[in-house]
Amino acid sequence: MHDIVVIGGGPAGLTAAIYARRAARSVLVLEAKTCGGQILNTPDIENYPVEAHVSGFDFGARVEAQARGLGAEIAFEKAVGLRRDGADWVVETAKGGEHRARAVILATGSENRKLGLPDEERLVGRGVSYCATCDGNFYRNKVVAVVGGGNTALEDALYLADLAEKVYLVHRRDGFRGEETNVARLKARPNVEFVLNATVRRLVAEKRLQAIEVEDVRDGSVRTLELKGLFVAVGRIPENQNFASVVELDASGYVVAGEDCHTRAPGVFVAGDNRVKPLRQLVTATADGAMAATEAVKYVNGLLDRGT
Ligand code: NAP
Repeated sequence: MHDIVVIGGGPAGLTAAIYARRAARSVLVLEAKTCGGQILNTPDIENYPVEAHVSGFDFGARVEAQARGLGAEIAFEKAVGLRRDGADWVVETAKGGEHRARAVILATGSENRKLGLPDEERLVGRGVSYCATCDGNFYRNKVVAVVGGGNTALEDALYLADLAEKVYLVHRRDGFRGEETNVARLKARPNVEFVLNATVRRLVAEKRLQAIEVEDVRDGSVRTLELKGLFVAVGRIPENQNFASVVELDASGYVVAGEDCHTRAPGVFVAGDNRVKPLRQLVTATADGAMAATEAVKYVNGLLDRGT
């Protein structure tokens, strides 16, 4: 039995563990793979306060050490279910185990949807990126492409248009899912070229990305775009399905919760990229971790005060 079980050992979950331990509550963090989460894939973080440059790997390792140093337990197990039992929550794991807690923080994050092209994974950090805010600065005065037609792609393209020499916006239709105002802003940018009704069919690369081949979906014609960076913004996949019976999910699968990180289930809180929010960044994930833990501690203290 722990006061708080945190599901997910990324920046949000580990920050939650730090805050909960500093409030003297017992904490177990369940992590399915490696502590650090998605940030492990970022070679150089330069938009988190204090450290001008830190690798995602170092960041993950240091936050993990900080949480452990404060007494958080960490178990490498995948949580696959959550159910209520009296006043307690029971977290079910893939190996058939169970962990009982007074409160639970869901910090499972979300995954970038991939294009599914050969070499895509190998080229992450070598020309392929899923985060313009994180990596855009490495492409100053270079030619890049953004693929996607939602608000993320449109905002990424606008952000990159301020930095890059040229931005291709590649989208599989000629209508956009994102807001028309963003489309109009992009049309006004002289260094943005729309490549519509087109899909990326090949990444051309040796060590680093050199070009992409795009195929026109109407006539099958292929064009090669020489570039240094490809920003993939084709949506995200939040990892919440295992908890859908307990918390409310929006149409895209994110947990519905406000800035206080309360879900509809008393004692279940959410922190990080799997929560409904407009900006998914390291700094907003850690902020959520602090908030969710603070609220979870208040909830647990309330139970303890009532002798539950
Ligand atoms: P999204 O709205 O789901 O858009 C994903 C885009 O990627 C769509 O245009 C889709 O094309 C395209 N796509 C999906 N799979 C693809 C594939 N395999 N190959 C090529 N293209 C593919 O995702 P998002 O842009 O990440 O936005 C997610 C949510 O966050 C949205 O609700 C969005 O409005 C919101 N958001 C809000 C803000 C803001 O408020 N400032 C900023 C960013 C995002 P189709 O259109 O053809 O399906």
